[in-house]
Amino acid sequence: MDQSEEGAEPEEMTCRLCWGDEDDGPLVQPCACRGSAKFIHKHCLERWRRTSTNEDAAWRCGQCMDKYRDALSIELLSARLRAERAREQTSIFTLDILAQELQAQGKYDEAEPLCREALEVSRETLGSRHLSTLASINNLGTLLYAKGDLAAAEPLYRKALKVQRETLGNRHPNTLTSINNLGTLLKAKGDLAAAELLCREALEVRRETLGNRHPDTLASIDNLGTLLRAKGDIAAAEPLSREALEVRRETLGNRHPNTLDSINNLGGLLHAKGDLAAAEPLCREAVEVRRETLGNRHPNTLNSINNLGTLLRAKGDLAAAEPLYREALEVRRETLGDQHPRTLASRNSLGALLQNMGDLTVTEG
Ligand SMILES: [Zn+2]
Ligand SMILES: [Zn+2]
Repeated sequence: MDQSEEGAEPEEMTCRLCWGDEDDGPLVQPCACRGSAKFIHKHCLERWRRTSTNEDAAWRCGQCMDKYRDALSIELLSARLRAERAREQTSIFTLDILAQELQAQGKYDEAEPLCREALEVSRETLGSRHLSTLASINNLGTLLYAKGDLAAAEPLYRKALKVQRETLGNRHPNTLTSINNLGTLLKAKGDLAAAELLCREALEVRRETLGNRHPDTLASIDNLGTLLRAKGDIAAAEPLSREALEVRRETLGNRHPNTLDSINNLGGLLHAKGDLAAAEPLCREAVEVRRETLGNRHPNTLNSINNLGTLLRAKGDLAAAEPLYREALEVRRETLGDQHPRTLASRNSLGALLQNMGDLTVTEG
């Protein structure tokens, strides 16, 4: 946010690779690295990603491990997979990473066959209780969950979690990821009591084992916050949502996908609390930055567009809400299909809005 940075010291903007400045080309912040490693030339980064022999250079920063989540990641990982297939040496790792990239970028249908292939190969070569197989089961669950198929995702999450508790114990990071995943799913299903137990377990152990500023701990804080909000306990939810957003802004910056999740969540919470004036700038920030960083067709961008529409509708600005609702519905139909829960929710929202507007016209006439 511009205002908070106004009083700060001017930052030294130099490329972490060549030490050049903006005169040599545009500087970008591609990952969660901070301090003097924050900036890199767009062209220096692209050359590094295309030519480095580091296995992860194509898709994530080797320092902070943050993923770039862009078209170049998909291009380079797809090329790697094609090369591996040509040599008949397809690796589970490449399948998994490419599937996760596609999923994170909203390309669910392209991700699914790769996810299933990774799981199949993993089961056959490593066995059904291997760490990597369990991670693949979880990945497929997460994809099916994102596609709106909660019924298919739940048994996968439960299977992975059960075996991880048995083989890795209750405090292993992978077990905690599964606990968090199942908690999120149960929350979406409306089983809030069961979800709360899991979300609290994951958060408690992550605070103890990873500390309060680790990305996974922050995900758990945000998760418990949205759960308590869904339960109607806004007073307990608000400090958690604020904590997650504050630490994510500090540690990941204002444009990171996780920070945007938090902006979106706190905006929704303030809306639910009835503080529309405080909610609006957050909702607008989420739409704006997600449009810029994820594009106009990404599921998360559409969630934010829809949320802003709902906020404007609550403010009584129906005319401003309508194009947002229409945009969300149209693109959800195209990208998620007619039967996805979010598409159905969009259709209901637009229907109710048009009815409101019709009512107004009648009253005014
Ligand atoms: Zn450079
Ligand atoms: Zn980094």
